[in-house]
Amino acid sequence: METSDRKQGTVKASTNAAKGLRELFENQLKDIYWAEIALTKALPKMAKNATSTELIKALENHLTETEDQITRLEEVFEAIGTKAVAKKCDAMEGLIKEGDTIMEETELGVVRDAGIISAAQKVEHYEIASYGTLHAFAVTLDEDRAADLLAETLEEEKKADVKLTKIALSDINVDAAEANEKW
Ligand code: ZN
Ligand code: FE
Ligand code: FE
Ligand code: FE
Repeated sequence: METSDRKQGTVKASTNAAKGLRELFENQLKDIYWAEIALTKALPKMAKNATSTELIKALENHLTETEDQITRLEEVFEAIGTKAVAKKCDAMEGLIKEGDTIMEETELGVVRDAGIISAAQKVEHYEIASYGTLHAFAVTLDEDRAADLLAETLEEEKKADVKLTKIALSDINVDAAEANEKW
């Protein structure tokens, strides 16, 4: 592949900037590790604010999966011989904040449920992008064990997303639309 001879860029690299894919991989692993830990606090809050039993069940189930994903990430760190360290993920912090705002701005009930699903799906999509990338990095770096573990989590995140779509389409969105007509 051709690379441009424009080596400067417009963003100045910090003194400890990643010099190869390996470091980029490790940095992004630390990012998603932080994100998953943050989600173990955000998901229960979403579940507490949901009213649909199906939605509550899905969120609680994904909380259990998230706890397993944290353990799995620790296995990934071990597999690649790096200490498990969490590094703040600005994106997940923002997505969680947005979820909080959505809950504050909606009445408890179907409308808030619809909002919670939208916030949760944005989280899942961020995770799908992250694990997809991490898996590709691991494959390139010949980290087979890490690649397998990351692929496993990627599938869980995809399933969680599909589940949320199903719940939204089953009745919540329709009920939320009707709730508006009552006024
Ligand atoms: Zn992240
Ligand atoms: Fe996750
Ligand atoms: Fe991030
Ligand atoms: Fe997830």
